[in-house]
Amino acid sequence: MPPILAFAETRGGELRKVAFEAVTAARQAADASGSGEVHAVMIGAPGLAGRAEDLGRHGADLTLVVEHPGLERYSPEVFAATLAERVKTTGYRAAFFTASAQGRDLAPRVAARLGISMASDVTGFELQGDTVVAQHPAYTGKVNVTLRLTGSPAIISLRPGFVTPAEQPRGTRVETLAPAMDPTTARVMVTELSQRSTTKLDLGEASIIVSGGRGLRAAENFKLVEDLADAIGNAAVGATRAVTDDGWRPPTDQIGQTGRLVSPDLYIAVGISGAIQHLAGMRTAKTIVAINKDKDAPIFKVANYGIVGDLFEIVPRLTDEIKKTRRG
Ligand SMILES: Cc1cc2nc3c(=O)[nH]c(=O)nc-3n(C[C@H](O)[C@H](O)[C@H](O)COP(=O)(O)OP(=O)(O)OC[C@H]3O[C@@H](n4cnc5c(N)ncnc54)[C@H](O)[C@@H]3O)c2cc1C
Repeated sequence: MPPILAFAETRGGELRKVAFEAVTAARQAADASGSGEVHAVMIGAPGLAGRAEDLGRHGADLTLVVEHPGLERYSPEVFAATLAERVKTTGYRAAFFTASAQGRDLAPRVAARLGISMASDVTGFELQGDTVVAQHPAYTGKVNVTLRLTGSPAIISLRPGFVTPAEQPRGTRVETLAPAMDPTTARVMVTELSQRSTTKLDLGEASIIVSGGRGLRAAENFKLVEDLADAIGNAAVGATRAVTDDGWRPPTDQIGQTGRLVSPDLYIAVGISGAIQHLAGMRTAKTIVAINKDKDAPIFKVANYGIVGDLFEIVPRLTDEIKKTRRG
């Protein structure tokens, strides 16, 4: 049975959570469709090879390591050329990416170079023989489209957080691969990466997100949302577009159709109406809790748990209770 490729994204020499999601998904697809190896590929500056074992733990039979000093940062041309060459020469059944910021840029480049089918922002997949069948939310999540990708291999990019990384240990083999082109000759180079805060949990990596909307009334009231996220621990803070447009939060915090697509285990929506464009970015969360004073707010249609009431009373009480419980 031909193997499946999984792109294992790294940043600063470390594997990102989405890397384990892609490898886990590829392993699940291989196992569910009979057998076949999973090949994970990492691209970056020298020093990555030590991470191969982590990919083996998540189900990679072979880890391909592409290292070059010129690949410390994402290089669209080099990454795409290297992956396209590997896919072309190895005869993969499918290639799995995640629809992270990097994956959203990279996967279509690889598909275009090879002239092969691709589905993006995938929230369900199956391999039927060599054919990939993928689910993809369309029209801002109003419908779920089932796509049958013709031709093999096909590429899918998974919605971040949709797959829960699982350990399925394999004694992974490691192979080094040269970049398909010299990174110093690339026409586009990322020269700088500006990060707002290195301590802030990325929305795509967070398994819990507390998000705030216009119901908070002012930027300073976002402290309530931050305090709740802190009390829970290891939770990221998101926002609606109404909030980012008003400058209460940076645009990078926006969740929705024109913002980040997330699929955390728990999503707490505070003072958010649940406009279709917001739901498009978060409705695949595993559990949704909504706090809103309007019992008819659309957010309650997708919420698993709803609290109808004034957020200014409810959120501080919830935060206190969580703190008390955590103190034991
Ligand atoms: C092309 C396009 C793209 C868009 N993309 C996005 C996107 O990516 N993401 C996104 O979020 N939006 C997006 N929008 C905007 C979207 O349509 C909504 O306007 C926006 O999501 C509303 O944000 P909100 O829920 O914070 O505000 P509102 O809709 O104003 O809702 C505020 C809610 O707070 C509740 N509330 C008020 N006070 C309290 C209180 N004291 N206690 C409890 N509840 C309270 C209200 O009942 C209300 O339900 C887009 C729009 C367009 C046209």
